[in-house]
Amino acid sequence: AKYVYDFTEGNKDLKDLLGGKGANLAEMTNLGLPVPPGFTITSEACRHYLAEGAVPDGLEREVSEHLGAMEKRMGKALGQADDPLLVSVRSGAKFSMPGMMETVLNIGLNDESVHGLAKQAGGNDRFAWDSYRRLIQMFGKTVLGIDGELFEHALESLKGDRQDTDLDAGELQGLVETFKGIVREQTGKDFPADPREQMRLAVMAVFDSWNAPRAILYRRQERIPADLGTAVNIVAMVFGNVGNDSGTGVAFTRDPGSGQQGIYGDYLQNAQGEDVVAGIRNTIPLQELERLDKSSYDELLRIMETLENHYRDLCDIEFTIERGKLWMLQTRVGKRTAAAAFCIATQLVDQGLITLDEAVTRVTGDQLVQLMFPRFDSGTEKKKIAKGMNASPGAAVGKVVFSSARAVELADQGEDVILVRRETNPDDLSGMIAARGILTSRGGKTSHAAVVARGMGKTCVCGAEELEVSIAERRFTAPGDVVVNEGDVISIDGTTGEVFLGEVPVVDSAVVEYFEGREPDDDLVRAVDRIMRRADEVRRLGVRANADTAADAARARRFGGEGIGLCRTEHMFLGERRQLVEDLVLASGDEERQAALDALEPLQKADFVEIFRAMDGQPVTVRLIDPPLHEFLPDIVDLSVKAATGETSDKQRDLLAAVKRLHEENPMLGLRGVRLGLVIPGLFAMQVRAIAQAAKDVPGAKPEIMIPLVAAVQELEAVREEAAGILADLGVDALVGTMIETPRAALTAGQVAEAAQFFSFGTNDLTQMTWGFSRDDVEAAFFSRYLELGIFGVSPFETLDRDGVGRLVRIAVEEGRKARPDLKLGICGEHGGDPDSVHFCHEAGLDYVSCSPFRIPVARLEAGRAAM
Ligand code: PEP
Ligand code: MG
Repeated sequence: AKYVYDFTEGNKDLKDLLGGKGANLAEMTNLGLPVPPGFTITSEACRHYLAEGAVPDGLEREVSEHLGAMEKRMGKALGQADDPLLVSVRSGAKFSMPGMMETVLNIGLNDESVHGLAKQAGGNDRFAWDSYRRLIQMFGKTVLGIDGELFEHALESLKGDRQDTDLDAGELQGLVETFKGIVREQTGKDFPADPREQMRLAVMAVFDSWNAPRAILYRRQERIPADLGTAVNIVAMVFGNVGNDSGTGVAFTRDPGSGQQGIYGDYLQNAQGEDVVAGIRNTIPLQELERLDKSSYDELLRIMETLENHYRDLCDIEFTIERGKLWMLQTRVGKRTAAAAFCIATQLVDQGLITLDEAVTRVTGDQLVQLMFPRFDSGTEKKKIAKGMNASPGAAVGKVVFSSARAVELADQGEDVILVRRETNPDDLSGMIAARGILTSRGGKTSHAAVVARGMGKTCVCGAEELEVSIAERRFTAPGDVVVNEGDVISIDGTTGEVFLGEVPVVDSAVVEYFEGREPDDDLVRAVDRIMRRADEVRRLGVRANADTAADAARARRFGGEGIGLCRTEHMFLGERRQLVEDLVLASGDEERQAALDALEPLQKADFVEIFRAMDGQPVTVRLIDPPLHEFLPDIVDLSVKAATGETSDKQRDLLAAVKRLHEENPMLGLRGVRLGLVIPGLFAMQVRAIAQAAKDVPGAKPEIMIPLVAAVQELEAVREEAAGILADLGVDALVGTMIETPRAALTAGQVAEAAQFFSFGTNDLTQMTWGFSRDDVEAAFFSRYLELGIFGVSPFETLDRDGVGRLVRIAVEEGRKARPDLKLGICGEHGGDPDSVHFCHEAGLDYVSCSPFRIPVARLEAGRAAM
């Protein structure tokens, strides 16, 4: 195998092998952009190292060859005493994991070459010693595993109140000695002086960082597979810390918050890359570079345009200027907010860079969901205490916490929290996940907090500089003597950057109002409208709603639903009517039972009339009652306690006896669905009559009658015959079909289809029964452990398990259609509104998905994307 690729050998499509960073460095190299020379060690080498505990044979030789070529090109050798070549060793996986893995800069410095570096920089001793102390610091922390605080503490106490740029060469040389002392003390060995050894160890440390706890956590959060490994880039160093004619920065080709075109970025004079991202010193806006170094600035803008046209998308970049010469260190198609994703996609269409179909593929259902979040009510009085940068949109309200640990603790207790930090670093990830929102007092839109929050779709305000944050005292202050202590409630607006004291009420999003029927009146809503229309044109899947009230049915229609795919009739028996169900189930004779049924029938009919009216001629799949009995009967424990304490009437004693008789250990697998219909005479017949009568009352009504929890065609056959008889008697036309929610029904779909005009996959129960996972219990009980262990990447109740449950669905589709070619096929489990599952349904050839009314737009969009 080939484990090393020069930048001239790769390209942007080799992300699997070279990682995002390596592939894009190669792409930029081939575009003729100023990229320092370098090469990439493949992620395959990393996977080998992680599996075997050693680098693959031949890797060292390949690295030496590429290093040799680079040395020849540069005319100097790695760490050469009088004129050293220095390199950075940078992680870069297929998917961007900002700040989660390791990078080591300035490899090749030691006690000799530090003098060569100073000479090379025109006698700039300060720069050389600053670079050397950075190497020991980064190497010590990431490669040797020394607590980074030890180095930071030494630096802080040397600096006092000064900036790091105020330290002179002598002081930095002293700091190098201190740092070397720390290394000796902590590891029992000297800092390795051999440049090649430094490089070798750094490469392995980057490989290892793939499995750092924060990287694992980030991957789980972002659903990035755990077995990809990272590539490693070895890049000739260019220096942003040589003096004030040097610096480093990050930029976006358009605003990642709103999508607006313009110049967005941060620049830091006389600094190395990690200083910007870490928010160590405050950056200046990129526009000010024009004043500092016009020619580099102009070149940067030209390159940004080249990149945007080449990638046909928003790009983010990292660059360094070394004594007036611009170097590109990274680019990638940039992360963006959900709103920006929609706006950028349609802008690129208008610019002629992409087609409208491509625009549909550039946005996701998850992003659409984010746009449907509420925002703060502009009408209410608010007490604004600060304004920072609008780093990641949304409206978040919660109690202030100052540490990740506290955020996790309170969130576990069900509290909403806002994580407040001076700046965040990758160790804050668990707190960021637990918090409703993130607020920092330092750092720009490209700071760690901002980048990670945007990636997670979490509300974030950063760089609110008026705030004085004291982590130690667990409080922050704002202008006007405002003091906010841990536990106080604040509200943060990630769309405007504003911070408010107390709880601010929230209102619906403009996108929801648009789905509710308002005309598009801003850029974002217009973009959503264009993309949704196109998705609707191309999608093959129908989209229906799970709705069992007229109000839900009406919303479903407004949101673009094309019928009801699941009307759960047992939901109509809750509240006051529960007593009637209890009477029915516990009835001791035909008479009592008939009385209960007679009482229910008109109520049922009225329910259906309302729903048929709301759906105005669209199909309505009514599912006959499916009550797991534990959800309906009085609690056996309550009754028993009352009986034991003697406070019971005769009636209650009878009730207890009946409940005991009907008590089930596993009600989910017990007397429910079609089983109940077969056991309680007249129950299903009453419902079918109510449906048919209602249909007669509402012209154009299109009822479909659905039988739940069927496992054998014989169950279905008995019910179907009775239903068909009632429909015929009343002269009503309705399809009669079944849910497929037991594995047996799926496996015998060919037989079942003989008695069913349609199938609707009840993937909640099908998942429950296929995995043997109790729907009611397992998620809280142990799913977090299963996710941790990587047994699955996402709960199978959330995203349809293609391998197991999906296989059953495919079998049922194939055999069902074979038996009955015009069989209609849908899905009505929760998966119907999950993006990945919608794609599965498209691939499996279903006719429609059915989901909760609020998820309908997501399902429409994803069905469109699936059809692309
Ligand atoms: C299902 O099991 O997927 C389903 C839709 O039915 P319920 O959730 O009501 O059991
Ligand atoms: Mg079910």
